[in-house]
Amino acid sequence: MESRASLFILVLLLGFSQALYLTQPDGEEITTRILTINKGSSELLLEGDILAKSSRNALVCLYNNNCFWKKSSNGLVKAPYTLSSDFSSSDTTVVANAMASFHNKTCIRFVPRTSETDYISIKNNDGCYSDVGKTGGSQVVSLSRFGCVYYGVVEHELNHALGFYHEHVRSDRDKYVTINWQNIDPATKSNFDLKNTNNLNTPYDYSSVMHYGKTAFSINGLDTITPTPDPSVMIGQRQELSTIDIKRINVLYKC
Ligand SMILES: [Zn+2]
Repeated sequence: MESRASLFILVLLLGFSQALYLTQPDGEEITTRILTINKGSSELLLEGDILAKSSRNALVCLYNNNCFWKKSSNGLVKAPYTLSSDFSSSDTTVVANAMASFHNKTCIRFVPRTSETDYISIKNNDGCYSDVGKTGGSQVVSLSRFGCVYYGVVEHELNHALGFYHEHVRSDRDKYVTINWQNIDPATKSNFDLKNTNNLNTPYDYSSVMHYGKTAFSINGLDTITPTPDPSVMIGQRQELSTIDIKRINVLYKC
């Protein structure tokens, strides 16, 4: 119990320090924040924030409509959601603002669930994580109140639920980044396994909100991902969906 209590305090402190970051955005990579928060999660998470029970590649589910949210006859794609009552009104505003960013630039519409069978249940669980694509039934997007309720993090997790994996695992990544295996914790190497992704005829996007930062899963503090040929290119997102992230949603869902 004592160690549990100290872990709880640690998480509280972490949450507080993260809250300070929010008030003074400093360019910290969103994915770094997600990985930090998720270190203590009791969920088995792949690539840091993907629920293990759905370890499939949604992007090759293009030919299986069930992996994606359905388009209505009006051309809009409804993704029903529920929001836990744990969230404060300011949390709710952050989530609503992140959803609005999809609404403003794509045909995706996150709508409060009425009686739909398939929906996203946004919960205050321990960590920031999501399934990839539509799983059917109720699927959890976890946004811990201690570190995950930030505009960019909410966008990142919702984008997983729409069907997007992390940029650094896409099929052609070796042309754009070098994975420094010697700097990766052996227990977490699978987080860098290539996926057979459908890249939707869009370029590799260093600025994607779905790209991990240079030191993700580092065992020694050295870079695990180095952009090539120019290692100084910024990777890991800082603010929001990139232009290409938005384009991909529009291509995938034929907006
Ligand atoms: Zn993620």
